[in-house]
Amino acid sequence: MSQHTHSLPYRVLLYYKYVTIDNPIEESKKHLKLCLSLELKGRILFAPEGINGTVCGTVEQTNEYMRIMHADPRFHDMWFKIDEEPEHTFRKMFVRPKKELVTFRLSEDVNPLEKTGVYLQPKEWFDMMQDPDIVIIDGRTDYEWDLGHFKGAIRPSIESFKEFPEWIEKNLSDFKDKKMLTYCTGGIRCEKLSAYLLKQGFNEVYQLHGGIVGYGKDAEVKGALFDGTCYVFDERVSVPINHTEDAHLISHCVYCKTPTDSYVNCGNFDCHRQHFQCLECVAKTNCSCSDTCMESPRHEYKPPFNRKFESYRRVPRRNQTAAEK
Ligand SMILES: [Zn+2]
Ligand SMILES: [Zn+2]
Repeated sequence: MSQHTHSLPYRVLLYYKYVTIDNPIEESKKHLKLCLSLELKGRILFAPEGINGTVCGTVEQTNEYMRIMHADPRFHDMWFKIDEEPEHTFRKMFVRPKKELVTFRLSEDVNPLEKTGVYLQPKEWFDMMQDPDIVIIDGRTDYEWDLGHFKGAIRPSIESFKEFPEWIEKNLSDFKDKKMLTYCTGGIRCEKLSAYLLKQGFNEVYQLHGGIVGYGKDAEVKGALFDGTCYVFDERVSVPINHTEDAHLISHCVYCKTPTDSYVNCGNFDCHRQHFQCLECVAKTNCSCSDTCMESPRHEYKPPFNRKFESYRRVPRRNQTAAEK
């Protein structure tokens, strides 16, 4: 994996933990000071049920952050998933208090610390995927699935996490005796989703520990059986997961149909639809998702639309983390 070259100056840390946070408002203020003093950028959420964060900084800055976090008894065992990057993947530093880490809005909440799906390590997940009696549930949203997903995973036709209960009721009710395999980007959403499935009477529920991102870093499976690339909520938008010979893109440019993982927002101010478009067509159409949008008078896109265009070439659909969806 390219992550092991130790030559890139920046690190992105992706992490979460369900643990009691007594005062999320106070905690957020203190934590913002810490992050600013370390010159980190990124987004961190505190809720009474825990912490969820993605931060970016230099090797020294992120090492110091992990050292300080691990010295806190609440976060002593925090698992940081680390990516190496050529430059910052965020522009600012946000630390915010929230009611929930994952916006589920259940009338009766589920607590993953009490009961959650059985954790599968990457190799266990890979082996379980060969079992014919499984149903693989993508614990994310439809537009994340479109960029990349595990082979055979059901596409959840939802735009935000809180739509899951209704979708499960409509689509999965016949599968209560099957082995349910759930996965998401880093693992945080499946802690709750798998807990919810258990509560709804599904018998055997599993979750991929460390999520897609952890799976892509595992030296043994090397991201095998993951098609396309993984959606992330920072300026990278898309990160590679499958490092085997079978790795391939599944998304195609809306104009010329070439395979591309360039996921951009339509330049028409009244549309702004996120769509796949290769860089050549982005340049040719002013980043429009259709001919109608190209002719729109309210066209906001003027290339290059941001200074990161050359290195990232994409803009995030929404400036928020997965947990807020
Ligand atoms: Zn194209
Ligand atoms: Zn459009």
